[in-house]
Amino acid sequence: MSDNIILGAGIAGISAGYHGKKAGTESVIYEKDGDWGGLCGNFSIDGFRFDRFVHFSFAPDESDKKLFAGSHGMHEHVPFPSNYYHGCWLRHPAQNNLAPLPSSEKVDIIADFIARPQKAAQDIARYDEWLRVQYGNYFAEHFPFAYTRKYWGVEASELETKWVGVRMYSPDIRQVLQGSYETQDECFYFAKKMLYPRKGGFRSILNVCREGLDIRLNKKAVHIDVKRREVTFADGSGAGYDRLISTLPLPEIVTMLDNVPQAVREAASGLHHTCGYQVSLGFRRPDVAKYLWFYIYDEDIPPARVYSPNLKSPDNVPDGCSSLQAEVFYDNRSAVPPAEEVLEKTVTSMIGMGLFDKKDIAVCDIRFEPYANITFTPDIYEKRAVVLHYLESLGIKSIGRFGKWDYKWTHQAFADGKEIA
Ligand SMILES: Cc1cc2nc3c(=O)[nH]c(=O)nc-3n(C[C@H](O)[C@H](O)[C@H](O)COP(=O)(O)OP(=O)(O)OC[C@H]3O[C@@H](n4cnc5c(N)ncnc54)[C@H](O)[C@@H]3O)c2cc1C
Repeated sequence: MSDNIILGAGIAGISAGYHGKKAGTESVIYEKDGDWGGLCGNFSIDGFRFDRFVHFSFAPDESDKKLFAGSHGMHEHVPFPSNYYHGCWLRHPAQNNLAPLPSSEKVDIIADFIARPQKAAQDIARYDEWLRVQYGNYFAEHFPFAYTRKYWGVEASELETKWVGVRMYSPDIRQVLQGSYETQDECFYFAKKMLYPRKGGFRSILNVCREGLDIRLNKKAVHIDVKRREVTFADGSGAGYDRLISTLPLPEIVTMLDNVPQAVREAASGLHHTCGYQVSLGFRRPDVAKYLWFYIYDEDIPPARVYSPNLKSPDNVPDGCSSLQAEVFYDNRSAVPPAEEVLEKTVTSMIGMGLFDKKDIAVCDIRFEPYANITFTPDIYEKRAVVLHYLESLGIKSIGRFGKWDYKWTHQAFADGKEIA
């Protein structure tokens, strides 16, 4: 029997293993995939490396930063994302940089911004109202309402507001006016610096931590017997534990347990999330990537967001090449179109946006991620608490983005592993 079993070799699981080892506890980490890293992981095709969605580190803790930079050092980027809206490119945040828009639309946005409803943010429960109060009706309806459908797969009226935090910038009238004359130089993004490993893709932030850890790959947990303290894997093998730490999604772990009360099952199945495709493109040209990342508001273009792996680090592409990865998201309750259809529509739309020509493409790939973002419906907190309380009562420590069912960035999932160890 091993002291600790950790389910999942993403950043939360690796952090739990690393910090446990430092504290003198040996763990075995079991991972369903054939490689470690979870959402921090990557894949390579013909010399082009792609992360599993856009990833940068903006960990505030100095010791974490040092650890993450430990194997290859970090590139530092000042985040100046862009926005694509009806053929115009607007620096982010769009409402601070309206300059490229036609005058009539600027007037509509500014007039509605001035006339926006007044209400304290903490008194607003629904995201659609929050958006109208922050930005005014015209901007809210044409930008974030559309983006919510693309990124979250639901209407803004279906979301609550506690998750927003620093993620959305709220401008004042001077900034809106200034930006409507000329694009502004100031970085309004919530993190002023974004770090990315010089080599090896994003998951290199974990190189130091994972050294010496016992990570067993292709081990998908399928059943947990809490009385016998035993986990069974899809290959028929089993392992006993003293302590069990899980980073698995809450709706999944509940299906692995016996005699789960109906209320817990119902709560778990009421937790919603997004899933999505990564459309990864490598080019035989050095100049396709222009922005670290950009958002697309047009709803007839499938991706919500596109980022440039080679701008994150040139190590992600062969010499003389560039790359893009488009992210296309869906609500987990909706019908997801087939990969070939999404790939074809995404590539055609991006060609239509003037980003590249078909002949430039050297690598073209599409993959599906079953779990991307937690969806903050108004009942999330209640339902999540029911499931977490039940797991706690069984002695299962559940951590990480999907184990705590929260909007965690990598350093927060890492902190979960540190805390539990
Ligand atoms: C689109 C997108 C962009 C993001 N961008 C950023 C960013 O720029 N910066 C940032 O800091 N964070 C970002 N994040 C968040 C970041 O990816 C997560 O916080 C972090 O990777 C979560 O790590 P985790 O270990 O909790 O979960 P995961 O990475 O999901 O790890 C869980 C692991 O468990 C494994 N597993 C699942 N089921 C089983 C099973 N039955 N048996 C065994 N193993 C199993 C999975 O394969 C996986 O490896 C982004 C997330 C998304 C979706």
